[in-house]
Amino acid sequence: MDNLNGLDNSTLLAHLRSTLGNERQTLASFLRYLAEVEARGLHAQTGHPSLFSYCTMVLALKEAEAYSRIHAARQASLYPVLLDRLTNGSICLTTIRQISPHLTAANIEKILATVGGKTTREIDKIVVTLAEAARPAARAAAPRNAAPEQPPLFSEAPSAAATAAPKLKPDRLRYVTPQQVEVRFTANEALVAKLDRAKGLARSKGVGSTLEGLFDHVIEVYLNQCDPERRLKRQHNRRPRAGSAHGAGGSSRYIPQAVKDTVYARDGGRCVYTTAEGQRCPALVGLEYEHRTPHARGGSSIDPANIELLCRTHNQLAAKREFGEGFIADAVRYRRQSAVNTARAE
Ligand SMILES: [Zn+2]
Repeated sequence: MDNLNGLDNSTLLAHLRSTLGNERQTLASFLRYLAEVEARGLHAQTGHPSLFSYCTMVLALKEAEAYSRIHAARQASLYPVLLDRLTNGSICLTTIRQISPHLTAANIEKILATVGGKTTREIDKIVVTLAEAARPAARAAAPRNAAPEQPPLFSEAPSAAATAAPKLKPDRLRYVTPQQVEVRFTANEALVAKLDRAKGLARSKGVGSTLEGLFDHVIEVYLNQCDPERRLKRQHNRRPRAGSAHGAGGSSRYIPQAVKDTVYARDGGRCVYTTAEGQRCPALVGLEYEHRTPHARGGSSIDPANIELLCRTHNQLAAKREFGEGFIADAVRYRRQSAVNTARAE
């Protein structure tokens, strides 16, 4: 780096400003490239379950940096004017996160004019006011004003349009000492009521009255019930029962739990998709058990060698290769339609 001592004050200030301008310009370009990478699905082709995974593992972005850039890139592909405002410095990535639940093509210019040059806290207040004003209207005319649905940032997260009231604070895990982690999240009232109930029950069972003790107990119960590794361990400890090999249903698409547990242990609880260069997908959650030779083509559901763990992204990529793009589009349409029908039936 150049030695700055030789610069006179006005040149130093000019350089400071021009560097900042370049940084904003570069950020806007980065977001455009990022949106294009996602549109082409290049993160999946390079072995990643989500764009978030690609950004943190390949681009070495920190989680928060990746999150805010992906979010901004998606918003900017809906509303390109955001890139101009980022470039001229009237908004930043935080502003985009704050205002995005409220943006529509009709109000974006007005909102941008209101928030330009404001502090984060001032924008918070503007956003809360917008949310309050929109709430009765949103209830009256829900689907018409709904924001377009976007894929989740984390492939394992449930997809939900940001039409609900904004979260107060993002979930957070933060080290407070080398051995202790602060866990923070915002809960709705129904969950708090369940927590109170569980706390009462737990106290009577001698679990203790702290939230930490309660969570530890509840998660133990959950893991005992749902963790394939624990189920396998219990099976090993049990004496084998006569005639219960891998369950019934050799010609069924249904994969017996014992087969799933064997596959889970073999695949190490991780997506097995691996690129030609040997890069294996890092996804550990949101995994699905899939037939290597599809059931429709005679593949077995009870032979663990024909079953593998895939994340949703790579399950879809595999199906695309096996059956072609049209099949996937039909299957997604069918899934959405089923969801709509289920919702209507309720
Ligand atoms: Zn994967």
